[in-house]
Amino acid sequence: MGVDKKAFRSLSYGLYLITAKSDGSANDGAAGCVANTFAQVTSSPFQVSVALNKENVTASVVQESGRFACTVLAQSATMELIGAFGFRTSSEFDKFADFQVAHDAAGVPYVAEQAVARFSVRVTKCVDVGTHVLFIGEVEEAEKLADEEPMTYAYYHQVKGGKTPPKASSYTGADDSEPANKSTKGGESTDESASDADAPAGETEGQDSAAPAKRYGWRCMVCGYVVETDELPDDYECPICGAGKDMFERIKL
Ligand code: FE
Repeated sequence: MGVDKKAFRSLSYGLYLITAKSDGSANDGAAGCVANTFAQVTSSPFQVSVALNKENVTASVVQESGRFACTVLAQSATMELIGAFGFRTSSEFDKFADFQVAHDAAGVPYVAEQAVARFSVRVTKCVDVGTHVLFIGEVEEAEKLADEEPMTYAYYHQVKGGKTPPKASSYTGADDSEPANKSTKGGESTDESASDADAPAGETEGQDSAAPAKRYGWRCMVCGYVVETDELPDDYECPICGAGKDMFERIKL
């Protein structure tokens, strides 16, 4: 009896923004990423944990500062928000710029929109678990932000058309009825590992000729962003996650 990867797909997760702040680095030291592994550990005291990939800027900022904030994404959270925090790197891109930001009592920034709740955590233990660091900490602040459904990891994949691994060629594009979650890895939604490309100038929309019959677009298989155009230029880069043209699939709109 070995390890059947399909078993992992039956695990349930939410989707969270983990944010932190250190002093002195770029973007005022603010970093953040998307994670699906935030969880409560005990209730007396209130302790939580989250596993962050070591390659993420956010993980090192949490390690240095000893604090992080977690917002529980609402089911209505946009791909723009998830794309900004999940597929860009905090060292080169101000993930917070386009969103409403608030700070907790310790000065840690968090995105105060598209979220149903937030937590402020003081880290008490860091456990090296190989590719990731497992952070365990005490909850210092907790607040309900909205009376909405939280986003689940399954909803993100199946309904929002969220990130699908490139090798999942069976992914059927515009038809999201089939779970696209081919390789559920514990940990984050590929935060920071994405390309470091700059955002391209403008979107490629407006090129459609006056033929109203069929409309086509291209969907980014990394972050789910859809651009409405017939052909993508060879040097096109996703404005959300920076992926190149080869990561786009053609879809009918
Ligand atoms: Fe993208």
